[in-house]
Amino acid sequence: MSGRILVVDDLATNRLILKAKLSASYYNVLLAESGEEALEIAHRELPDMILLDVMMPGMDGYEVCRALKASAQTAHIPVVMVTAANQQEERIRGLDAGADDFLNKPINDMTLFARVRNLMRVKVMFDELKLRESTSQDLGLSDFIDTHDFATDYAGSVVLATGDTGLGGRWRDCITSRFPFDVRLADSGQTVLELAEIHPPDAFIITQHLGNGEDGLRLVSMLKANPATRQSAILLVIEDGKLETATKALDLGASDYICAPFDANEMAARLRSQMRRKKYSDRLRSNVRDSLRMAVIDPLTGLYNRRYATQHIHRIVERAGETGLPYAVLMMDLDRFKTVNDVHGHAAGDAVLKEFARRLQENLRGIDLVARLGGEEFLVVLPDTTARSAEIAAERLRKAIDETPIPIGGGKMLDITVSIGVAFGTAADRDPEKIIENADAALYKAKTTGRNRVSFFAEAA
Ligand SMILES: [Mg+2]
Repeated sequence: MSGRILVVDDLATNRLILKAKLSASYYNVLLAESGEEALEIAHRELPDMILLDVMMPGMDGYEVCRALKASAQTAHIPVVMVTAANQQEERIRGLDAGADDFLNKPINDMTLFARVRNLMRVKVMFDELKLRESTSQDLGLSDFIDTHDFATDYAGSVVLATGDTGLGGRWRDCITSRFPFDVRLADSGQTVLELAEIHPPDAFIITQHLGNGEDGLRLVSMLKANPATRQSAILLVIEDGKLETATKALDLGASDYICAPFDANEMAARLRSQMRRKKYSDRLRSNVRDSLRMAVIDPLTGLYNRRYATQHIHRIVERAGETGLPYAVLMMDLDRFKTVNDVHGHAAGDAVLKEFARRLQENLRGIDLVARLGGEEFLVVLPDTTARSAEIAAERLRKAIDETPIPIGGGKMLDITVSIGVAFGTAADRDPEKIIENADAALYKAKTTGRNRVSFFAEAA
C-alpha cells in the first residue's frame, strides 16, 4: 500500500535518512523543516501520515500535533512523534497532544514500517468514510463532523484480558479512576469472545500471554476476523520485550501496543487516544448511515421521498422493458386536507398523514413503490400489474381510507377520503415522466368530478 508521508524534522540529515528509507518502500515523501512549515504543508497536501520530530526550535512537536488535531481538515491524519529517547514522560505528553504513535531515535526500520502499515490502514478506512460522508454532504443532508475532544464526554467500554487477574484488577482500577469507562475482566480467549458477544466493547486490552498458556496474538486475529468486534480498538501488552512481537501484533490488526512493565499513566493515555479514534470513526459511520437514510426517507411517514421515487421509477420502467410486463402509476391526494390542518391543527394533520401512509403500506405488496411526494400528495407504482388488477388495487386503497375514520388524538376521529389517478405503462413506454403526467391528469379528473374516487387516464384523455 503506498501513500504520502510528511516528514517533519529541523535537522536535514534526519529528514534525508527518513526520506531515503520511506522512498525505498515506495512511499511518497514530503519534507518540512519547522512546525510552521509542517502545518502549512499538512493543510495544503493532506498527507496520509505525519512523522513529527518533537524537539524543534520555535514551534515544537507537541504544539504542531495539537494544532493538527484541532483542525477539522487535518484531525484524522495519523501523527507519529519521533522522540530522542525512550522516555515515558515525553510519550504521555505526546499522547495528551493527540499523537497516534511514537518512534524512538535512532529509528528501527522494522518498527517504523510496522507503524506505517498499521496507521495507513486506519487512514484508508477514515478516508473512505469521509468520502461517503462528503457525498451525503453534497446532497445537503449532513452536518460537518466537528473535532471536539471525545476523551471526556462519553462513556466507553473496555474488555481487559490478562492471564493474571490480580494485575487485571489493578489495571481496571487505574482506568476507572481516570475515565468513565465500563471495564470488564477476562482471563481467557473464550471469556473475551463471550463478553464481546453480549456487548462488543470500544476497546480491548490484551496481554500477550493469557491464562492456560493461551496466545494473546491469536485472540487479536480472531477479534479482527469477527464483524462484531472488527471496529474495536485493540491494545496489546507485549510481555517478552521483543520488537518482532510488536510488529506481528500491529500487522495482525492491533491498534497499538505497550511494553510491560509500564507506567499506569502511559496505558491510560494510550487507551484514551484509541478511544478517541474509535469514537471518531463510530461517529463518521453513523453520520453516513443517517444521512443516506435521510436522503431517501420522508421522516414523518417513513415512506420513500420524491428523490427516491423519481430514481426508482426508472428502475421499474427498465424492468418492464426486460420482462415485457406492464405497470401502473397511481397519483393520490388527500381530499380537503388543508381543512384538517386549519380546523384541527398540524398535529392532527400529521396524524392523518401517518395513518394514511400506514394503510397504504398495509394494502400493497412488498415490490410496490410507495412514496410521499410532498404535502398530502403520494405516489404508488405497481410493477408487473395488469390494468384490471391495478383497478382493484386502487379501489381497495380508496376504500381503506374512506371506510374507517382516522383517529387524531384526544379521542377524536376524522372522516378522510382520497382521490386517485391511475395511468398505465407498457414495456414499450420508456419515459416514466410521461406516465406520471398521465396519472396526474387522471387525478385532476377525480378531483373535479366529486373527489373520493378513482379515475383512469384513458377516461381523462
Ligand atoms: Mg529536532
